[in-house]
Amino acid sequence: MNYSALKVFFQGLSGNKGWKPMWREPEPKEEYDILIVGGGGHGLSTAYYLAKEFQEKKIAVLEKGWIGSGNIGRNTTIIRSNYLLKGNQPFYELSMKLWENLEQDFNYNAMISQRGIMNLFHNDPQRDAYTRRGNSMMISGAGAVMLNEKEVRRVAPFLDFDNARFPIKGALCQTRGGTVRHDAVAWGYARGADRLGVDIIQNCPVLNILVENDKCIGVETAKGTIKAKKIAICVAGSSSQVMNMAGLKLPIESHVLQAFVTEGLKPVLPGVITFGAGHFYVSQSDKGGLVFGGDIDGYNSYAQRGNLPTVEDVCEGGMAIMPMIGRSKLLRMWGGIMDMSMDGSPFIDKTKIEGLFFNGGWCYGGFKATPASGFCFAHLLSKGEPHETALEFRLDRFQRGAVIDEKGQGAQPNLH
Ligand SMILES: Cc1cc2nc3c(=O)[nH]c(=O)nc-3n(C[C@H](O)[C@H](O)[C@H](O)COP(=O)(O)OP(=O)(O)OC[C@H]3O[C@@H](n4cnc5c(N)ncnc54)[C@H](O)[C@@H]3O)c2cc1C
Repeated sequence: MNYSALKVFFQGLSGNKGWKPMWREPEPKEEYDILIVGGGGHGLSTAYYLAKEFQEKKIAVLEKGWIGSGNIGRNTTIIRSNYLLKGNQPFYELSMKLWENLEQDFNYNAMISQRGIMNLFHNDPQRDAYTRRGNSMMISGAGAVMLNEKEVRRVAPFLDFDNARFPIKGALCQTRGGTVRHDAVAWGYARGADRLGVDIIQNCPVLNILVENDKCIGVETAKGTIKAKKIAICVAGSSSQVMNMAGLKLPIESHVLQAFVTEGLKPVLPGVITFGAGHFYVSQSDKGGLVFGGDIDGYNSYAQRGNLPTVEDVCEGGMAIMPMIGRSKLLRMWGGIMDMSMDGSPFIDKTKIEGLFFNGGWCYGGFKATPASGFCFAHLLSKGEPHETALEFRLDRFQRGAVIDEKGQGAQPNLH
C-alpha cells in the first residue's frame, strides 16, 4: 500500500478501517535458501538488500518477538559517519549515503533529519584529536567542520561554556549527521522485504542451530525445524547465546544501555550534541522530547532495563554541559541489550562452520550502521566475499593483532 494525504483523509472519514497490514504473517516453509535469524534493523535490511540488490529468492527472517522489539526500537536514533580509522570510516560513510536515499528507496517516511552533530571539545589535546578525526572524515568524503567557541555559542547559546571543570572550547561538527525515527526504519525495511517475497516470521525464537559434519543445515525453532543452505545470525545483544548453539564463542559481552526521553519542549536543540569529557549525547525528537543517553550500566546483563547509578551518571553529564536540562521532566526510560565487542567495532563474517554467517558486535553504534550492515552482509551471503568497505570486520582480527580500536581504550566495553 502506498500512502498519500488523500488516502489519510479518506481513511479518516471511514474510521481508519481500510488500512492493510504492512507485511504478511506467513507460516514458515520447510526449507529456504537463506535464513536470517533476528528481525532487528540489521536482519531486516540484510533481507531487503538480498532480495532487491542481489536478486536472491527463498529468504526468511525469524524473529523471537515482534518486529521492532529489540534495539532497533530502543536506540537514541543518532546517525553519523564521524570515525577516524580506515576500518570504520568508509563503512559508516557508505551507511550515511544509503540513509540519504533510504526513504525514496523503500518508499517509507523514516523522518530522516540531518540537522548535524556537534562533538564538543574541552581542552587543547582534545581539539588536536578531533582535528585529526575531521581530516579522516574529509578524506572519505563525509565532510567535517571545526567550530570555535564563538561559533558553537551562536548555534547553542544555552550550553555552559564557562563550566569550571569542563569549559567548552569548540566542536567537531558533521552537518550531515542527525537522527532517524528508529522504528520506522524497521517497518520500512520489513515492508520492503515482504513486498520482494521475503517471509517475515514473528514469535519464532531459534532454539538450536543444526550442524552436521561442520556444515550448518538448518535451525530448530518454536515453530519446528527449518532447513536452509545459508544461515545468517543478526541477533545483536543475544549474539553470544545464539552462536553458542553452534558451539562458537565470541569476543563479545552483553551489557545493558539505557535511553531517556523528557516531556515535549519547544524546539531548542539545533541538532545532536555530545559531551567531550564524559559520556552524554542529546537530541530533540520531532515531538519535542529531549532524547538522551550515556554509558552502559557496566555489568553483563540480558535485562532490558537498567539501574539508578547510571541514571545519575547520565544526568550529571547533561547538567555539566546544559544545566537547563535539570528543569525538564523525564517522561520515559528503558534499556536495550548491547553486543559490546572487545575493540568497539563490529563483525560481518563467515564462521568456520560452512553455511553459518555472523553479523554483530555493534556496541552503542549499530543503528547508524543499519543500511550498510545489511548491504555488506547481503553482499557476503550472496557472493561469498566481503564487501570492500567491510573487509576489516573479520572474526579473526584479534588473532591477527588487527583490532579496530577507534577510541584506543583496549578491551573495556564501557570505554568504547
Ligand atoms: C538505549 C540505546 C541507545 C542506542 N543509541 C544508538 C544511537 O543513537 N545510534 C546508533 O547508531 N546506535 C545506537 N544504539 C545501538 C543500536 O540500537 C544497535 O547496535 C542496533 O540496533 C543492533 O542491531 P539490530 O537493530 O539488528 O538489533 P535488534 O533490534 O536488537 O535485533 C536483534 C533481534 O534478534 C532477535 N533475537 C534474539 N535472539 C533470537 C533468537 N534466538 N531467535 C530469533 N530471534 C532472536 C531479538 O528479538 C531482536 O529483535 C543504541 C542502543 C540502545 C539499547
